[in-house]
Amino acid sequence: MRVVVVGAGVVGLCTALALRREGADVSVLDRASVDHGASAANAGWVVPVLSAPLSGPGVLTEVATATLRGEGSVGVRPAAGLLGWAAGFLRSTRADRHRDGLRAVLALGARSVELFDELRASGVEFEMHRRGLLIAARTRHGLESAEALVAAARAAGYGGETRVHVGSAVQALEPALADAVVGVVHAVADAHVRPESLLAGLRAALLAEGATLRRGVAVRGVERDGGGWTVATTSGAVRADRVVLAAGVDTAVLLRELGVRVPLLAGTGYSVTASGTGTVPAHPVKLIEANLACSPFEGGLRLSGMFELGARGSTVRARALRRIRAGAHRYLRDWAPVEDGTAIAGMRPATPDSLPVIGGVPGHDGLFTATGHGTLGLTLAPATAAALVPPVLHGTPAPELAPFAVERFATRPTAAARVLREGV
Ligand SMILES: Cc1cc2nc3c(=O)[nH]c(=O)nc-3n(C[C@H](O)[C@H](O)[C@H](O)COP(=O)(O)OP(=O)(O)OC[C@H]3O[C@@H](n4cnc5c(N)ncnc54)[C@H](O)[C@@H]3O)c2cc1C
Repeated sequence: MRVVVVGAGVVGLCTALALRREGADVSVLDRASVDHGASAANAGWVVPVLSAPLSGPGVLTEVATATLRGEGSVGVRPAAGLLGWAAGFLRSTRADRHRDGLRAVLALGARSVELFDELRASGVEFEMHRRGLLIAARTRHGLESAEALVAAARAAGYGGETRVHVGSAVQALEPALADAVVGVVHAVADAHVRPESLLAGLRAALLAEGATLRRGVAVRGVERDGGGWTVATTSGAVRADRVVLAAGVDTAVLLRELGVRVPLLAGTGYSVTASGTGTVPAHPVKLIEANLACSPFEGGLRLSGMFELGARGSTVRARALRRIRAGAHRYLRDWAPVEDGTAIAGMRPATPDSLPVIGGVPGHDGLFTATGHGTLGLTLAPATAAALVPPVLHGTPAPELAPFAVERFATRPTAAARVLREGV
């Protein structure tokens, strides 16, 4: 079976490899020729403990409070579809929807760390560390938020060990943290990887295992063609039996051409990776009040964050970088960069309910989506790939994908969508 995967970000590459390993004749197409965007810029965290959708109850108050404190990490830019997206976001802040979303993401991603281990054991080479994740707080309220976040994850099925450290135990565990950090929650079972090394490892494995990878080839559209599909590209047409759209936020553009509306907006963030002096953190750390990420890699420390809804493009805004650096500085004892480092902007593909959009496109047999993973695309990429194999190759449903169906955005729900939503 010939399968075309559109997009060589982390989701497209993991999906392509899973399909290839089940015997499909796989081609991956990407318009970019080099690593870029969200899949390269990200913090590299594999963190089922952080599975909670962004749209939780009280989120707007939290964002407003952080902004007033000067630690705002969320911005909004004018964008087509913004009002509808915002309405959907507000609807999904309901406590029951938030809880259901958290359960669904955890059910999909519960084995994420093991899936990354399995990728490595299967010969995919990349940098990975198993030191867990620290959630660091400078305030009592921040520590309570971290504990509440973990408690909610646990109630929804998160099974990893977590430990709380306060006072001097914080710096005993992680000497790179400043005395201002009053407490940390250590999610011991979570992990982190170097995103660029993961992308390179996946590409190498795909090529070694007989898949085709074409970079610098943009997909203009997909069209039904007899029993299969024709993928129109800037380098000619490609025929396929199945097509998986894993084109990040621009998946919505390709679907729109087919009359399918999926409310995806860019949630743009930035990272900067540099070598430095002083004490380098041994653990990846979520800086909870500032909502920033700190990831130690071989040869450099990556600081990342910001969520600028509707902001598009690859330009790294100097103001955002200053915020990230200054915000991280408040949590770190004495680490300081000795170079500007490498800065990357990445558009997280963000849905209003913070849930990905994975599965068959209704009314378009043989066409699938794998996008919308927002803040968790790296974590969920191998699990997404594994779950997509049965529907793509065998036409059999994957029950764990039901909450992520494209149909949930249809204005007039199809019968299938009603069954998924209401179980009737
Ligand atoms: C600062 C930051 C930190 C993050 N930290 C984490 C983290 O620690 N853990 C985590 O789990 N997630 C994290 N994320 C989120 C994660 O990075 C994303 O969810 C994930 O990378 C999305 O991957 P993707 O493959 O769906 O999309 P993308 O990475 O956007 O890849 C899509 C690909 O499709 C290609 N494409 C688009 N349109 C076309 C077309 N028409 N034709 C051909 N190719 C096309 C693009 O060139 C691109 O290569 C972070 C994101 C950011 C920005």
